[in-house]
Amino acid sequence: MTATEARTDWETVIGLEVHCELRTETKLFCGCRNSFGEEPNTNICPVCLGLPGSLPVLNRAAVEYAMRIGIALHCHVQASQFHRKNYFYPDMPKDYQISQYDVPINADGWLELPGGPRVGIVRAHMEEDTGKTTHLGGGGRIHDASHSLVDYNRSGVPLVEIVSAPDMRSADEARAYVDELRAILVATGATDGKMEEGSLRVDANVSVRRRGEQAFGTRCEIKNMNSLRSLGRAIDYEAHRQIALISDGGVVAQETRHWDEDAGRTGSMRSKEEAYDYRYFPEPDLVPVDPSAEWIASVAGSLPRLPAERRAAIAAASGMAADSDAVVTVVRLGLDDLVDAAASSPGAASVAVRRVANEVASDPEAADRLDRRAFARLVAMEAGGELTAAQARTVLKTLMDTGGDPAAIAAELGFEAMDTGDLEQVVDEVIAASPEEWDRFCGGEDKLQGLFIGAIKKATDGKADLKAASGLLRARRG
Ligand code: ADP
Ligand code: MG
Ligand code: ZN
Repeated sequence: MTATEARTDWETVIGLEVHCELRTETKLFCGCRNSFGEEPNTNICPVCLGLPGSLPVLNRAAVEYAMRIGIALHCHVQASQFHRKNYFYPDMPKDYQISQYDVPINADGWLELPGGPRVGIVRAHMEEDTGKTTHLGGGGRIHDASHSLVDYNRSGVPLVEIVSAPDMRSADEARAYVDELRAILVATGATDGKMEEGSLRVDANVSVRRRGEQAFGTRCEIKNMNSLRSLGRAIDYEAHRQIALISDGGVVAQETRHWDEDAGRTGSMRSKEEAYDYRYFPEPDLVPVDPSAEWIASVAGSLPRLPAERRAAIAAASGMAADSDAVVTVVRLGLDDLVDAAASSPGAASVAVRRVANEVASDPEAADRLDRRAFARLVAMEAGGELTAAQARTVLKTLMDTGGDPAAIAAELGFEAMDTGDLEQVVDEVIAASPEEWDRFCGGEDKLQGLFIGAIKKATDGKADLKAASGLLRARRG
């Protein structure tokens, strides 16, 4: 089977389960600090160690963050109940996880990918995190480890698990979904969204079916992807594995699979367990959570503008498309304020979007340091034709590295705005050098403008303001 056959004859179906750690001060059911990267086993107490006689007390701030997430995802926020999900693992000292089961706090929502389909959100429920196990002596997995260490600092950290409908059809869509979901979650203030610190953890359910078929195929759940890149690679690998298997007359077994980043493939981990295996039962030590209509309304009222609305605002200010890569990048990185600071006119706004998406985005730390007013002055210089795009990029680099005044940096670099008189002279020289092409241009052959612009650029070492130059060409043509 060729890659093209796989693409044209088969369709990949993907549903994602995303675990999101909430940024509360303390854990979900005790007063221990919720903090990443501390000395192991220092933020622990009888409750999060599951010692006999300890009782959970629900953290109100965590419920509020969960509601913020639900509302931002257009979910129905409802009365919910905690359940015990029973299984053994050394990093879970109670031998059960407190989670939500048949009545999650948020249900039936959706989010819309920029320029793409709407993805259904089945539920977004609350649960506690487990501790963290590190397997030593071997490849980091339990099978070949000589011993394991357990850190309970993470035990009891509040999580919201967001379960999507199986609405995605490619690895690219799955990545775009995580990007958009992360931007929404960060905007609500519920999480820092750091995949590399485990604040966002993605499991992918993948199945395949022949194009045109209505029924879904059997799915596998893939775990252990810790970047968007590995998510995409894992989905592509898994879809190909399933297509090859079915094409050979085989059957996909429903199972949980592990993504091996170094080998670039998924491997079987365990056969899929069903809900009844966990012997879910209502948590007897916690009352149901039933947020009042007033509480829900006040949380909804306190939400900031969300990514889709922010993209629309930048599009309106700049005349660019809301789903263009540059606008999507600005909002995904939360750099709207830079654009806002510089958007004195539609022209300036679109210059600002391009500079932020192309230059500032590649250096997030410099983006934080970058003085908003200095950036706005630089954008005004480029939009007003005092600097060419190439010159503006060079000045911006210095601005991001060392700060300073853009006009002073430009002067120091010798980027003086070309005198209008000088530019007119260059334009005339360039026209005189190609009389035949000029006649054709005047006769309506518009594409020849590029030839003259190129010559002007060359004659001025790139210092000419090309917008002004094309204005002069049009004026001379009459
Ligand atoms: P479980 O509770 O066993 O994990 P769910 O029905 O809650 O099962 O589904 C879990 C995830 O799997 C959801 O994100 C859902 O969209 C996805 N999913 C369900 N069926 C399929 C399928 N056939 N192909 C791909 N993903 C699927
Ligand atoms: Mg599941
Ligand atoms: Zn504790």
